[in-house]
Amino acid sequence: MKWLRPLLWAVLALFCIGIAVMVPRALDAYKTLDTERNATPTPTADTQSMFYVTVDPNNTPEPTPLVLKRGMENDAVKKMQQALKDLGYYEGAVDGQFGSGTAEAVTLFQSQHGLTADGLAGSDTLSLLYSSNAEKYVPTPTPTVTPSVIRKGEHSDRVTAVQERLQELRYYTGAIDGQFGGGTEEAVRLFQRQNGLDVDGIIGSLTLTAMMDENAAGIVITPTPDPATLPVLVNRDNPLDASFVPDNLVLLRNVLPSSLVYVKGSEIEGDPTAADALGRMFRAAANDGVTNWQISSGYRSYAYQKKLFDDSVDEFMAGGSTYASAVSSTRLTVADPGTSEHQLGLAFDITVPDTAIFKGTEQQIWLYENCWEFGFIIRYQEDKEDITGYLAEDWHIRYTGLPHSLTMRNRDWSLEEYIEAMEP
Ligand SMILES: [Zn+2]
Repeated sequence: MKWLRPLLWAVLALFCIGIAVMVPRALDAYKTLDTERNATPTPTADTQSMFYVTVDPNNTPEPTPLVLKRGMENDAVKKMQQALKDLGYYEGAVDGQFGSGTAEAVTLFQSQHGLTADGLAGSDTLSLLYSSNAEKYVPTPTPTVTPSVIRKGEHSDRVTAVQERLQELRYYTGAIDGQFGGGTEEAVRLFQRQNGLDVDGIIGSLTLTAMMDENAAGIVITPTPDPATLPVLVNRDNPLDASFVPDNLVLLRNVLPSSLVYVKGSEIEGDPTAADALGRMFRAAANDGVTNWQISSGYRSYAYQKKLFDDSVDEFMAGGSTYASAVSSTRLTVADPGTSEHQLGLAFDITVPDTAIFKGTEQQIWLYENCWEFGFIIRYQEDKEDITGYLAEDWHIRYTGLPHSLTMRNRDWSLEEYIEAMEP
């Protein structure tokens, strides 16, 4: 197909000639169109006298247009800019270019002098501007802007200011980055609860006023609490003695109003201080509109934990497991006797009546967000499984008291990490 190549060349050549002819024509057509579009009607003799003054043909070869407007560039504009600048209306460059800044200045000048504020500098505007009646720019007072709420998702300087203040008050330990994220929201909620405000994590005018008040209550977190007051650590490496029984256990049904929480077993006991904190916590939850709580477990004696453990081992062995494998299977979910926090009387399993899965319920979410303020911690968390040695348990809370629980929350520490950090 050798004949094809010359043919292609011929076509290509014709095509190029076509472009060479067509493009300039198209450009000319476009230019004409453009000129027509922008053209102002040719002034008649009468209108010409209105728009142009010819003072002295020798000194001003080009007539100076009396109406200065956007898009112009000449010395008249420059002179006007200087005058507007001297009076405080204009802050831009005195360059003779009539741009948007100049138009704005003209409009300002006009409105302050009772002229039609159109940004076109005609003879009325200009003669007033250059007269002794021209007044200096008086800024109109900006009306006080009611601050809109500051909430999660905002990224701004005012978020930075809030973070700095919350850090000062020790509610916030995250980065001061102006980004209103989960940590900032958490700190706002803490602040609100401890300052008697509605707890919603959103900064409205009430929260903002309280926060910026010089008497705003800060969290008291002792950086290094007395080791003697540190919470007791109970885990596989730190078991309790078989004989350990906490003092003054109280029956939860006797101390917690059934209107706040349903205690599943009539025999469930707990430490009195922890039980008192439970009462305050469920009352706060009710105030937040979260009710229908259940306590399914509290204090467990060593003997009871041993029975739970042995029963589970027996069950695995009945299913054909060896003793060793039955024990290791049991250990995944049941604590060895002596290694359960429930023996302290400070641990409780919180659930929702007649609900098999606690995770994801509004109660679980509320508990996770708020238990810390009442001295409780979510003891076994998903990202701490390697450290605690237990699978996550959303329902298991442990009373450590304040400020420990808040410090663990703020630092994102498990009890193991907290004890290690605090012990001398
Ligand atoms: Zn538990």
